[in-house]
Order: sequence, then C-alpha cells, then structure tokens
Amino acid sequence: MRIGIFGGTFDPPHVGHLLAASDAFEGLHLDRIVWVPAAAQPLKSAIVASPADRLAMVQALVGDDPRFTVDPIEIERGGLSFTVETLRALHERWKSDTALALVLLLGADAAATLPQWRGVDEVMRLAEVVVLRRGERNTAAMGHAIDTRTVDVSSTEIRARVSAGFSIRGFVTSPVAAYIEGRRLYR
Ligand code: ATP
Ligand code: MG
Repeated sequence: MRIGIFGGTFDPPHVGHLLAASDAFEGLHLDRIVWVPAAAQPLKSAIVASPADRLAMVQALVGDDPRFTVDPIEIERGGLSFTVETLRALHERWKSDTALALVLLLGADAAATLPQWRGVDEVMRLAEVVVLRRGERNTAAMGHAIDTRTVDVSSTEIRARVSAGFSIRGFVTSPVAAYIEGRRLYR
C-alpha cells in the first residue's frame, strides 16, 4: 500500500486542504490518504479550537470519502506532535504490509520548516516527502514536489471571517460550517 500522510492543525480544515489532498491522491497514485490532525505543533503558537473539535471537523470534511481516513494518533498521544514519532508508529502498526510506502504530504510553507523538525533525517527515511506546490517555485529543496491547484484559502482567513461575522460558505464544506456554527467556534 502506498499511503499518503496529510498532517496539519486543521483549525479549521477547508476546501484548500480537500482539493490539495485530492490532487495528491491522483498525482501520486496513492491507495489512501490518512489525515492526521496535530495535538499541538512545535512550530505553531496559537491553535484556537480544541484537539477534539479539530478532529471532529476533519472527520466532517472527509465524511465517507473512500480515498481518505482520519487518524487521531497525534491527538491521542497528546503533547507536542512530532511527525517522526507518528511515522514510527504507523510503520509499526502496518509492519505486516511488506509493500508499505508512506508518502508525507507537505504544503510549501510546511516544507520550508522541515530543516527545523525533530529527527528530520529519520523522517526522510521513514517516508517519501512530497511538497504540494501551489504555483511556488524552488520549493523542492528536500524530497520532490507535485503541482496541486491553487486554492487561495487558509484557516487563518476563515477564523478571521467567522470572528468578523462574515460567511464561510464555500470556504469549508457544509458539514464543517455546521460544526463551527453549532459549537460557536472562532467567534
Ligand atoms: P493556518 O492559516 O492556521 O496556518 P492552514 O490553512 O495553513 O492554517 P494548516 O493546518 O496549517 O492549514 O495546513 C495543513 C497542511 O495543508 C500544510 O501542509 C499546509 O501547507 C497545507 N495547506 C494549507 N492551506 C492550503 C491550501 N489552500 N492549499 C493546499 N494546501 C494547503
Ligand atoms: Mg498554515
């Protein structure tokens, strides 16, 4: 199995994530993509929604799409989420699959921080690192890159829109919008 690993804070997850994952699934010939919401990220200061809410929103975004699963591994582990630990655990979990290949999917912004990651050498041994390039150039310094479509949406903008009372229809899927509204997140 060739399994993509798509991590993030997903605070909240949005259509940019969904279409990037969809493009990566096809472009990299993956059997599945596992979405991994982080508990807390070493290189990201302010996470707004709780781990449980972010996990529920990723599940809402992915729904019953057979290409995708959501894994609570980092949220269950708690503390700072180091990708190297997650990759080790997934290799251990799936060790009976002798043809297992993990493909770590990183947006260019995330990829730029890779040199600062804990155990970066081991990360590169445990997974094939692929940068999801959205029109940026020179972002394939480590691993290789594929071009995904450009969707100019970020979680930061969505949080700001909710807080300012603007609609987020079209920025997230309806189940995610309903979850945000129901839990009164980001106000
Ligand atoms: P924030 O604004 O809070 O940083 P974000 O929208 O960048 O949030 P993250 O959870 O930080 O979302 O991103 C998870 C992964 O998705 C990262 O690898 C990031 O580069 C990638 N990503 C984020 N937004 C997009 C987008 N619009 N298109 C493609 N990939 C994206
Ligand atoms: Mg980001």
